[in-house]
Amino acid sequence: MENNGGSTVSLARLESYDDFEALLAALRELLRPLGGMSAFVRPGQRVLLKVNLLAPARPEQAVTTHPELLRGVIRLVKEAGGIACVGDGPGVGDTLTNLKACGMAKVIEEEGAEALLFKETSVFENLENRIGKRVALSRHLLDCQVLISLPKLKTHVQMAYTGALKNQYGLIPGSAKGQYHFRFQNREHLADLMLDINRLAKPTLAIMDGIVAMEGEGPSGGQPRKLGALMASADLAALDVLACHLIGLDPERNPLNMAARRAGYGATRLEEINVCGERPENMRLLDFKLVKAPVNIMRILPLPAAWLRWLRRQVAPRPQINRELCIMCLRCAKGCPVQPAAIDPKMPPGKELNSMTCIRCYCCHEFCPVKAIDLKKSGLGRLLDFRNIADIGTRLLGKIVAFMRKR
Ligand code: SF4
Ligand code: SF4
Repeated sequence: MENNGGSTVSLARLESYDDFEALLAALRELLRPLGGMSAFVRPGQRVLLKVNLLAPARPEQAVTTHPELLRGVIRLVKEAGGIACVGDGPGVGDTLTNLKACGMAKVIEEEGAEALLFKETSVFENLENRIGKRVALSRHLLDCQVLISLPKLKTHVQMAYTGALKNQYGLIPGSAKGQYHFRFQNREHLADLMLDINRLAKPTLAIMDGIVAMEGEGPSGGQPRKLGALMASADLAALDVLACHLIGLDPERNPLNMAARRAGYGATRLEEINVCGERPENMRLLDFKLVKAPVNIMRILPLPAAWLRWLRRQVAPRPQINRELCIMCLRCAKGCPVQPAAIDPKMPPGKELNSMTCIRCYCCHEFCPVKAIDLKKSGLGRLLDFRNIADIGTRLLGKIVAFMRKR
């Protein structure tokens, strides 16, 4: 699955999801400047359609990719001879519950596609990555030869905006994402990780659902807002830049755009993008409600910030240098993203780590050439098996949300 590169973004106008033939025609027109679906899918290839399945929500709530858009893309994949597979690792609920609640399960069945449940992972590695050099992502990336991202355009209380690049964060199944929120409280570090996941997963194309977007307190607590935009590109960074432009968000306020710029991943400035189809200036919504002050997602817990910092330090394992193995190469300190470095092997034993500034990104652990850095769980971390508790919590929360939304 290679990124085709290029900075062409195709933009089409569609007012609603109601007329499927019109939607299908708009999708064909959208992909025409990019060479059509056959430029991305060859006969016999399994194609992972990575939808946004954040939570069990009805399509009109604009939390998830709309099922009729999914239907249209499945048709085009089948026309190109591909085998359409659909999945996501939702943060709330589980894949099957959410597919049913969002109307996608019905579409998958009617169109003869395959639902992927995102239960198993494999470790993907790219040593060129900034933070996520080795990340456990859905094993389905190995089963499928092509990854097509189908994001929903939404605001995001933590990251300001969610679209094409952020959609790949769902390739980390379920609650494991929560661990990363513990580890990366700094938005820039989290954005670097999300960008790294794109470099691991290598989406070839993104088709963005901006027909009805979400404004306000997204990605699940905002309000649906008609934008009438369908967008597609092989350059996901460029696609996000155009989407931000349409909703009046300065792309430089999107941490993922800046992470892409730091990594040299795609076009990150509007002037670098060639827009085909509709003229963006005719589609911009200058009164789109943006997130006023993005918050750290952990702050949603009803605890004072100091308690949260303490809790995080207790739960997340801390790096510890094994003196018998350390060869004093100092790669750990040089690779630490914190300034000054939170780890210093020259300090006396037991004092090498500044636990207060360490963000638990574990770059030092990854950089060490002789595996001299252990990740030591705290007593509370051992007591609270965070992953299991979070798994149970997200499933339970998903059932409650699905129940409430049916009423
Ligand atoms: S000491 Fe290690 S885990 Fe802590 S911030 Fe530095 S690189 Fe990350
Ligand atoms: S990277 Fe490993 S070997 Fe090198 S100084 Fe750090 S702990 Fe020691």
